[in-house]
Amino acid sequence: MRKERGMSRRSFVGAATTAAAWAGLAPEKVLGAHGRAGTARLGRALRQEQDAYDALAKINFNENPYGPSEKVMEAMQYAFKYSMRYGYPDGGITQAIADHHGVGTENVLLGAGSGEILEVVGLTWLDTSKKVVGVEPSYGSVYTHASGIDADALLLPLEPNHRQNIPRMIDATRRNARDVGFVYLCNPNNPTGVPVSADEVRDLLDGIPEDVPVLIDEAYHHFVEDPAYETAIPYVLEGRRVVVARTFSKIYGMAAMRLGYAIAPADMIERMRVYSTGSTNALVMWGGAAALEDVESERWVRETTLRLRKRTAADLEGLGYEVIPSDTNFLMVHIRRPVQEAAAAFRERGVLVGRPFPPMLEHMRVSVGTESEMDRFMNAFEDIFAATASSGAGR
Ligand code: PLP
Repeated sequence: MRKERGMSRRSFVGAATTAAAWAGLAPEKVLGAHGRAGTARLGRALRQEQDAYDALAKINFNENPYGPSEKVMEAMQYAFKYSMRYGYPDGGITQAIADHHGVGTENVLLGAGSGEILEVVGLTWLDTSKKVVGVEPSYGSVYTHASGIDADALLLPLEPNHRQNIPRMIDATRRNARDVGFVYLCNPNNPTGVPVSADEVRDLLDGIPEDVPVLIDEAYHHFVEDPAYETAIPYVLEGRRVVVARTFSKIYGMAAMRLGYAIAPADMIERMRVYSTGSTNALVMWGGAAALEDVESERWVRETTLRLRKRTAADLEGLGYEVIPSDTNFLMVHIRRPVQEAAAAFRERGVLVGRPFPPMLEHMRVSVGTESEMDRFMNAFEDIFAATASSGAGR
């Protein structure tokens, strides 16, 4: 519990939610009185919908359930005074990101979430004659976007141990070199949670033609424990054709605020900038700069998340279910039956779990929520899988 977090800014609706969440309470329990002020204008149906949403255990989208830290809330509160402006001070966010990584501001491109960065990479390096090379399953919006702009995706399967096969990725890229727009490496991978080692990343960059861009998506960087993993950002300083994507949605708990960024060599950033919307909002830019400084909150989120992930994995394994070792804020459990059916059973019990990720149709992705959300998940799991667990049939 974080006793040092006070309740100094009651005017901001979210402050109550955040402070309570940091104190270990479920955010939805706290919204109560404060939240109602914001819903007064809603009709009954919308209010019921909102109440239903608030009551769910939401462990389906790999969100950070605690929300922004107090320092971030303060910074965003301050930035409200620029809400009516187009041109406004941006809280020094680009410089803050550059300083944070030891790169220049010319190496930074902001996006409305890292999702925008991934799309901008697609728009910059794909066209109807080009392919993205990657694995399946991975963060699918990269491939969906590629097909949306009539480009192609060359997708390789994961290994039986759920790792990305880097030699195969090198081979596929070399064999199709003329048609490859870029290579996508999600590290650690979503939905498996499995990281790629620093040595393998180097092998990949050394093994493919040096002018083929590699998009390395480090959305879950902050949750990694594997000592073999390293960020790929130093490659940018070497001038390698690497774009590293990062987000404020995960460790910093700002998914709905939309802020992500790319770190890349200056000439790549310039090419990408043409396609970016430049639509990041004033609040999140000030909040983002504050988040990078708030190392104590970052540590708390990481430690709490890892503790709950390990506890949940141990509980599932204790029931006889195999869990893929994860270095993220989610895990995958092999439930040995279709995820689609199981997800519906969880939904009936007020718990939202991850959707199916073909071809891993019997592996359920579970995000690490609050302690109470994980308790609700485990209760529902035991309830739904009771027959299998007690008979031992599924072991
Ligand atoms: N990359 C990965 C691997 C993700 O899992 C996500 C979201 O879940 C994103 C990118 C996009 O995140 P955002 O657009 O919120 O920054």
